[in-house]
Amino acid sequence: MAGIHLEGIEKSFGRVKALKGVSLEVAEGELVVLLGPSGCGKTTLLRIVAGLEWPDKGRVFLGKREVTFLPPRSRGLAMVFQNYAVFPHLTVFENIAFGLRMRRLPETVIREKVRWAAELLRIEELLSRYPAQLSGGQRQRVAVARALAVEPQVLLMDEPLSNLDAILRLDLRAELKSLVKALGMTTLYVTHDQVEAMGLADRIAVMREGEIVQFAPPLDVYRRPAHTFVAGFVGHPPMNLLRVSPEDARVHLALDLPVSKEVIVGIRPEDLEPAPKGDPGAFSARVRVVEPLGSHQLVTLEALGTTLKAIWPPEPSLDPGEEVWARVHAERMRLFDPATGRAL
Ligand code: ATP
Repeated sequence: MAGIHLEGIEKSFGRVKALKGVSLEVAEGELVVLLGPSGCGKTTLLRIVAGLEWPDKGRVFLGKREVTFLPPRSRGLAMVFQNYAVFPHLTVFENIAFGLRMRRLPETVIREKVRWAAELLRIEELLSRYPAQLSGGQRQRVAVARALAVEPQVLLMDEPLSNLDAILRLDLRAELKSLVKALGMTTLYVTHDQVEAMGLADRIAVMREGEIVQFAPPLDVYRRPAHTFVAGFVGHPPMNLLRVSPEDARVHLALDLPVSKEVIVGIRPEDLEPAPKGDPGAFSARVRVVEPLGSHQLVTLEALGTTLKAIWPPEPSLDPGEEVWARVHAERMRLFDPATGRAL
C-alpha cells in the first residue's frame, strides 16, 4: 500500500481557477473524504490524483513515487465513478476481469481474483449475467469489485453511491467502509453528502472554491468547525450562527460570552438544550415551528433576537407560540471572527 501526498496543486480551466494550491496527506490505509458543494473542485482533484488531468502547478506522490505526469495505468490505482461505468456488452465476470486482462495475467490467476472480488461484494451468483440484468445496487457492486480485483495501492471513488436509493445507499456505505478497512486500502472518496462523509471518513477534507478549509476527523469537523462555512455545511440542520455585537449586553449575558467585541457564535441544534422555566443560566424563547421527527423534534425558536434551530427530545410535545426556556453549555459554543469567518 501507499499513501497519497499532494503538494500545492493548482488547476485552472480557462478563467475558472478550480484548485488554488491544495496540499493534502492521506496516510497509508487511510480513508479520506473530499467534501464540499458542487463546483468546489473535488472531482478535479481526484482526477489529478488519477492522472486523468494534469495540474498547472504542484506535485502528486503515491507513496514515495512522484506520479504527477504519469499516465493513469502506471499509477497502480483503481477508480469507481458515479455512473458506475460497467461495460454493458460484458458479463459480470468479464467486467470484473477487465483490469486483470489488461495486465495479461494467466487465466487461472484471473479466475481466482475475480472469485475473490465477487465474494467480497457478495455477487458470486451473478457472474454470468449481463449488466442489463442487474439492479442498480448490483451494478454498483460490480464496479467496486472490478476496482478491487486489481488490488490497487490506492482506491479513488467519486460519488459511487449517488445513483442508489436511500436504503441501499446506507447498506452499501457500511459495506464499503468495512471492506476498505479490512483490506487496508488507501482511499480517497468524493462526495457532497455530509452524512456520507461523516459516516465513512477517517478524516474529512472540507473544500470550498478550490481550497481545503479544514482537514480533520469527522467529529472534530463537527464539534470544532474551523470556519463558518464548515459550520454551515456540516450537520443537519447546520450549526446556528448568531452575529453578536458588543452593545448586545443581553445576548452576551445570556450566552456568558468571554469576549466583548463583535463575534459570530456557533451553536449546534442539539446543544441548545431545554431548561426549566426561570433557570438562572437560561434564556426564554418563543416556539415558532415544531417538526416531530420520531426520535426527536426539530424546534424553530425565536430567541436572542434571532431564529434558532434546536433538536429536543420528542416529549413533551410543544405548540407554536408557546414560551420555553433554553440554555447552551459554554464549552459547546464556537466563536468565529466575523471579518474572516475563521474560528477564534
Ligand atoms: P460536483 O460535485 O458538481 O461534481 P466538484 O466539486 O467535483 O463539483 P469540479 O468538477 O472539480 O467540482 O469543478 C470545479 C470547477 O472547475 C467548476 O467551476 C467546474 O465548472 C470547472 N471545471 C471542471 N472541469 C472543467 C473542464 N473540463 N472545463 C472547464 N471547466 C471545468
